[in-house]
Amino acid sequence: NWILLDDQLVKEEQVNISKEDRGYQFGDGVYEVIRIYEGDLFTGQEHIDRFYESAQKIRLVIPYTKDVLQKMVHELVEANEVINGYVYMQITRGASPRQHQFPEQGQPVLTGYTKLMERPIELMRNGVHAKFVEDVRWLRCDIKSLNLLGNVLAKQEAMENDCYEAVLHRGETVTEGSSSNVYGIKDGVIYTHPADNHILNGITRREIIAVCAELGIPFEEKAFTKEAAHTMDELFISSTTAEVLPVTVLDAQPIGDGTPGETTRRLQQAFERRLGLKESA
Ligand code: PMP
Repeated sequence: NWILLDDQLVKEEQVNISKEDRGYQFGDGVYEVIRIYEGDLFTGQEHIDRFYESAQKIRLVIPYTKDVLQKMVHELVEANEVINGYVYMQITRGASPRQHQFPEQGQPVLTGYTKLMERPIELMRNGVHAKFVEDVRWLRCDIKSLNLLGNVLAKQEAMENDCYEAVLHRGETVTEGSSSNVYGIKDGVIYTHPADNHILNGITRREIIAVCAELGIPFEEKAFTKEAAHTMDELFISSTTAEVLPVTVLDAQPIGDGTPGETTRRLQQAFERRLGLKESA
Protein backbone atom coordinates (compact mmCIF):
# COMPACT_ATOMS: atom_id res chain seq x y z
CA ASN A 1 0.00 0.00 0.00
CA TRP A 2 1.32 3.39 -1.06
CA ILE A 3 1.00 6.52 1.05
CA LEU A 4 0.99 10.08 -0.19
CA LEU A 5 3.57 12.04 1.83
CA ASP A 6 3.77 15.64 0.64
CA ASP A 7 4.16 15.25 -3.12
CA GLN A 8 5.61 11.74 -3.12
CA LEU A 9 4.14 8.26 -3.10
CA VAL A 10 6.04 6.31 -0.47
CA LYS A 11 5.78 3.08 1.44
CA GLU A 12 4.31 3.09 4.95
CA GLU A 13 7.76 2.44 6.51
CA GLN A 14 9.03 5.67 5.00
CA VAL A 15 6.45 7.80 6.79
CA ASN A 16 8.05 9.40 9.78
CA ILE A 17 5.84 12.09 11.32
CA SER A 18 7.38 14.27 14.02
CA LYS A 19 6.15 14.09 17.61
CA GLU A 20 5.95 17.87 17.34
CA ASP A 21 3.73 17.88 14.29
CA ARG A 22 1.02 20.45 14.99
CA GLY A 23 -1.61 18.09 13.70
CA TYR A 24 -0.62 15.69 16.45
CA GLN A 25 -0.28 18.28 19.20
CA PHE A 26 -3.02 20.79 18.39
CA GLY A 27 -5.21 19.21 15.73
CA ASP A 28 -3.87 22.13 13.69
CA GLY A 29 -4.85 20.98 10.23
CA VAL A 30 -7.71 20.01 7.94
CA TYR A 31 -8.75 16.86 6.12
CA GLU A 32 -10.96 15.34 3.45
CA VAL A 33 -12.45 11.96 2.65
CA ILE A 34 -13.21 11.15 -0.98
CA ARG A 35 -15.24 8.11 -2.00
CA ILE A 36 -13.98 5.74 -4.67
CA TYR A 37 -16.56 3.75 -6.61
CA GLU A 38 -15.41 1.19 -9.16
CA GLY A 39 -11.96 2.77 -9.24
CA ASP A 40 -13.16 6.35 -9.79
CA LEU A 41 -13.25 9.29 -7.39
CA PHE A 42 -16.81 10.50 -6.81
CA THR A 43 -17.13 14.33 -6.67
CA GLY A 44 -13.34 14.51 -6.40
CA GLN A 45 -13.18 18.12 -7.53
CA GLU A 46 -15.73 19.26 -4.90
CA HIS A 47 -13.74 17.55 -2.13
CA ILE A 48 -10.46 19.07 -3.33
CA ASP A 49 -12.10 22.49 -3.49
CA ARG A 50 -13.41 22.10 0.07
CA PHE A 51 -9.95 20.96 1.23
CA TYR A 52 -8.48 24.25 -0.03
CA GLU A 53 -11.36 26.22 1.50
CA SER A 54 -10.87 24.58 4.91
CA ALA A 55 -7.13 25.22 4.71
CA GLN A 56 -7.67 28.84 3.76
CA LYS A 57 -10.07 29.31 6.70
CA ILE A 58 -7.31 28.28 9.12
CA ARG A 59 -4.75 30.38 7.17
CA LEU A 60 -2.81 27.33 6.02
CA VAL A 61 -1.44 27.57 2.50
CA ILE A 62 -1.39 24.24 0.65
CA PRO A 63 1.89 24.32 -1.28
CA TYR A 64 0.48 22.67 -4.42
CA THR A 65 -2.01 23.74 -7.02
CA LYS A 66 -5.37 21.97 -7.00
CA ASP A 67 -4.47 20.31 -10.30
CA VAL A 68 -1.23 18.90 -8.89
CA LEU A 69 -2.99 17.62 -5.78
CA GLN A 70 -5.78 16.05 -7.81
CA LYS A 71 -3.18 14.31 -9.97
CA MET A 72 -1.35 13.01 -6.89
CA VAL A 73 -4.58 11.68 -5.41
CA HIS A 74 -5.39 9.88 -8.66
CA GLU A 75 -1.92 8.36 -8.72
CA LEU A 76 -2.38 7.16 -5.14
CA VAL A 77 -5.71 5.50 -5.95
CA GLU A 78 -4.24 3.85 -9.03
CA ALA A 79 -1.08 2.70 -7.29
CA ASN A 80 -3.16 1.02 -4.57
CA GLU A 81 -5.57 -0.44 -7.14
CA VAL A 82 -8.60 0.61 -5.13
CA ILE A 83 -11.92 -0.49 -6.60
CA ASN A 84 -14.36 0.44 -3.82
CA GLY A 85 -13.07 2.49 -0.93
CA TYR A 86 -11.99 5.97 -0.07
CA VAL A 87 -9.04 8.32 0.08
CA TYR A 88 -8.29 10.04 3.38
CA MET A 89 -6.02 13.05 3.19
CA GLN A 90 -4.96 15.68 5.65
CA ILE A 91 -2.61 18.59 5.87
CA THR A 92 -1.18 20.00 9.08
CA ARG A 93 0.77 23.14 9.82
CA GLY A 94 3.80 20.88 10.20
CA ALA A 95 6.41 20.36 12.88
CA SER A 96 7.92 23.00 15.12
CA PRO A 97 8.75 23.37 18.86
CA ARG A 98 5.43 23.41 20.72
CA GLN A 99 3.90 26.85 20.98
CA HIS A 100 0.34 27.83 20.21
CA GLN A 101 0.97 30.58 17.68
CA PHE A 102 1.91 29.68 14.14
CA PRO A 103 5.57 28.72 13.66
CA GLU A 104 7.67 31.33 11.90
CA GLN A 105 9.11 28.68 9.72
CA GLY A 106 7.49 25.39 9.17
CA GLN A 107 6.42 23.28 6.29
CA PRO A 108 2.87 21.94 6.06
CA VAL A 109 2.78 18.13 6.11
CA LEU A 110 0.39 16.41 3.72
CA THR A 111 -0.51 12.75 4.11
CA GLY A 112 -2.97 10.65 2.16
CA TYR A 113 -3.87 7.00 2.09
CA THR A 114 -6.58 4.72 0.74
CA LYS A 115 -8.84 2.16 2.38
CA LEU A 116 -11.08 -0.46 0.89
CA MET A 117 -14.75 -0.13 1.79
CA GLU A 118 -17.99 -1.48 0.36
CA ARG A 119 -21.26 0.47 0.36
CA PRO A 120 -23.25 -0.03 3.61
CA ILE A 121 -26.09 -1.79 1.83
CA GLU A 122 -27.69 -3.30 4.93
CA LEU A 123 -27.81 0.04 6.74
CA MET A 124 -29.15 1.72 3.62
CA ARG A 125 -31.98 -0.81 3.46
CA ASN A 126 -32.84 -1.10 7.14
CA GLY A 127 -31.96 2.33 8.45
CA VAL A 128 -30.16 3.19 11.67
CA HIS A 129 -30.93 4.31 15.20
CA ALA A 130 -29.74 7.68 16.44
CA LYS A 131 -29.44 9.53 19.72
CA PHE A 132 -29.63 13.22 20.54
CA VAL A 133 -26.39 14.65 21.92
CA GLU A 134 -25.83 18.30 22.84
CA ASP A 135 -23.63 20.02 20.27
CA VAL A 136 -20.85 21.53 22.35
CA ARG A 137 -18.42 22.07 19.47
CA TRP A 138 -16.83 25.37 18.52
CA LEU A 139 -18.50 27.85 16.18
CA ARG A 140 -16.51 27.01 13.04
CA CYS A 141 -18.01 23.64 12.21
CA ASP A 142 -17.91 24.69 8.54
CA ILE A 143 -14.17 23.93 8.64
CA LYS A 144 -13.26 20.28 8.13
CA SER A 145 -10.74 20.52 10.93
CA LEU A 146 -8.68 17.74 12.49
CA ASN A 147 -10.07 18.87 15.86
CA LEU A 148 -12.82 16.29 16.21
CA LEU A 149 -13.12 15.82 19.96
CA GLY A 150 -16.69 17.09 20.09
CA ASN A 151 -17.61 14.72 17.28
CA VAL A 152 -15.68 11.82 18.82
CA LEU A 153 -17.35 12.18 22.22
CA ALA A 154 -20.79 12.47 20.63
CA LYS A 155 -20.30 9.38 18.45
CA GLN A 156 -19.01 7.40 21.42
CA GLU A 157 -22.08 8.33 23.44
CA ALA A 158 -24.30 7.22 20.55
CA MET A 159 -22.43 3.91 20.19
CA GLU A 160 -22.68 3.20 23.91
CA ASN A 161 -26.43 3.52 23.50
CA ASP A 162 -26.52 1.13 20.54
CA CYS A 163 -27.00 3.97 18.12
CA TYR A 164 -25.20 4.44 14.82
CA GLU A 165 -25.16 8.22 14.94
CA ALA A 166 -25.43 11.15 17.33
CA VAL A 167 -27.87 13.81 16.14
CA LEU A 168 -26.37 17.03 17.50
CA HIS A 169 -28.45 19.95 18.75
CA ARG A 170 -27.51 23.40 20.02
CA GLY A 171 -30.17 24.01 22.59
CA GLU A 172 -33.41 23.17 20.77
CA THR A 173 -31.95 23.43 17.25
CA VAL A 174 -30.83 20.31 15.40
CA THR A 175 -27.53 21.01 13.63
CA GLU A 176 -25.97 17.89 12.07
CA GLY A 177 -24.69 14.42 12.92
CA SER A 178 -21.32 13.68 14.54
CA SER A 179 -20.06 12.64 11.10
CA SER A 180 -23.02 13.34 8.82
CA ASN A 181 -25.65 15.89 7.86
CA VAL A 182 -29.19 15.44 9.19
CA TYR A 183 -32.49 15.99 7.37
CA GLY A 184 -36.17 15.78 8.29
CA ILE A 185 -39.06 15.25 5.89
CA LYS A 186 -42.51 16.63 6.74
CA ASP A 187 -45.48 16.67 4.34
CA GLY A 188 -43.18 16.04 1.38
CA VAL A 189 -40.73 18.87 2.18
CA ILE A 190 -37.11 18.15 3.17
CA TYR A 191 -35.61 20.35 5.87
CA THR A 192 -31.98 20.67 6.93
CA HIS A 193 -29.86 23.19 8.82
CA PRO A 194 -28.52 25.99 6.57
CA ALA A 195 -24.88 25.64 5.56
CA ASP A 196 -23.53 28.26 7.94
CA ASN A 197 -20.79 28.08 10.59
CA HIS A 198 -22.72 25.54 12.68
CA ILE A 199 -22.41 22.63 10.25
CA LEU A 200 -20.12 21.15 7.64
CA ASN A 201 -21.43 21.87 4.15
CA GLY A 202 -21.47 18.22 3.12
CA ILE A 203 -20.64 17.27 -0.43
CA THR A 204 -23.30 14.56 -0.19
CA ARG A 205 -25.70 17.27 1.05
CA ARG A 206 -25.00 19.24 -2.12
CA GLU A 207 -25.64 16.13 -4.22
CA ILE A 208 -28.93 15.59 -2.38
CA ILE A 209 -29.98 19.17 -3.12
CA ALA A 210 -29.26 18.50 -6.81
CA VAL A 211 -31.20 15.22 -6.64
CA CYS A 212 -34.20 17.01 -5.08
CA ALA A 213 -34.16 19.62 -7.83
CA GLU A 214 -34.09 16.78 -10.37
CA LEU A 215 -36.99 14.93 -8.73
CA GLY A 216 -38.98 18.08 -7.94
CA ILE A 217 -38.86 17.43 -4.20
CA PRO A 218 -39.09 20.68 -2.22
CA PHE A 219 -35.90 21.28 -0.20
CA GLU A 220 -35.61 23.94 2.47
CA GLU A 221 -32.37 24.95 4.18
CA LYS A 222 -34.21 25.72 7.37
CA ALA A 223 -33.26 24.38 10.79
CA PHE A 224 -35.78 22.37 12.80
CA THR A 225 -36.08 21.73 16.52
CA LYS A 226 -35.54 18.57 18.54
CA GLU A 227 -39.25 18.45 19.15
CA ALA A 228 -40.01 18.78 15.42
CA ALA A 229 -37.52 15.98 14.70
CA HIS A 230 -39.70 13.55 16.62
CA THR A 231 -42.77 14.42 14.57
CA MET A 232 -41.08 14.24 11.16
CA ASP A 233 -42.52 11.73 8.69
CA GLU A 234 -38.97 10.67 7.85
CA LEU A 235 -35.49 11.43 9.05
CA PHE A 236 -32.22 10.63 7.31
CA ILE A 237 -28.50 11.35 7.41
CA SER A 238 -25.90 11.65 4.67
CA SER A 239 -22.16 11.42 4.31
CA THR A 240 -19.47 10.55 1.80
CA THR A 241 -18.93 7.08 3.17
CA ALA A 242 -22.53 6.24 4.23
CA GLU A 243 -24.44 7.97 1.37
CA VAL A 244 -28.11 8.30 2.41
CA LEU A 245 -29.19 6.39 5.53
CA PRO A 246 -32.72 6.39 6.92
CA VAL A 247 -32.96 7.11 10.66
CA THR A 248 -35.80 4.93 11.90
CA VAL A 249 -35.47 5.45 15.65
CA LEU A 250 -34.41 8.62 17.47
CA ASP A 251 -33.85 8.57 21.24
CA ALA A 252 -35.66 5.22 21.40
CA GLN A 253 -38.76 6.65 19.69
CA PRO A 254 -39.76 5.55 16.19
CA ILE A 255 -39.76 8.11 13.37
CA GLY A 256 -43.01 7.67 11.42
CA ASP A 257 -43.78 3.97 11.58
CA GLY A 258 -40.18 3.14 12.46
CA THR A 259 -39.22 1.89 8.99
CA PRO A 260 -37.35 3.66 6.15
CA GLY A 261 -39.67 6.11 4.40
CA GLU A 262 -40.69 6.37 0.77
CA THR A 263 -39.02 9.72 0.04
CA THR A 264 -35.74 8.60 1.59
CA ARG A 265 -35.87 5.52 -0.67
CA ARG A 266 -36.39 7.68 -3.73
CA LEU A 267 -33.42 9.82 -2.74
CA GLN A 268 -31.26 6.74 -2.26
CA GLN A 269 -32.17 5.47 -5.70
CA ALA A 270 -31.64 8.82 -7.40
CA PHE A 271 -28.35 9.25 -5.56
CA GLU A 272 -27.23 5.82 -6.71
CA ARG A 273 -28.04 6.72 -10.31
CA ARG A 274 -25.67 9.69 -9.99
CA LEU A 275 -22.86 7.29 -9.09
CA GLY A 276 -23.15 5.78 -12.57
CA LEU A 277 -22.17 2.32 -11.32
CA LYS A 278 -21.80 -0.59 -13.67
CA GLU A 279 -23.16 -2.86 -10.96
CA SER A 280 -25.97 -1.58 -8.73
CA ALA A 281 -26.70 -2.84 -5.23
N1 PMP B 1 -20.89 16.78 9.04
C1 PMP B 1 -19.82 16.27 9.68
C2 PMP B 1 -19.49 16.74 11.05
C3 PMP B 1 -19.04 15.28 9.03
O1 PMP B 1 -17.95 14.77 9.66
C4 PMP B 1 -19.41 14.82 7.75
C5 PMP B 1 -18.63 13.72 7.09
N2 PMP B 1 -17.49 14.23 6.45
C6 PMP B 1 -20.52 15.39 7.12
C7 PMP B 1 -21.24 16.37 7.80
C8 PMP B 1 -20.93 14.98 5.74
O2 PMP B 1 -20.10 15.58 4.78
P1 PMP B 1 -19.79 14.86 3.40
O3 PMP B 1 -21.11 14.58 2.74
O4 PMP B 1 -18.99 15.86 2.63
O5 PMP B 1 -19.06 13.61 3.72
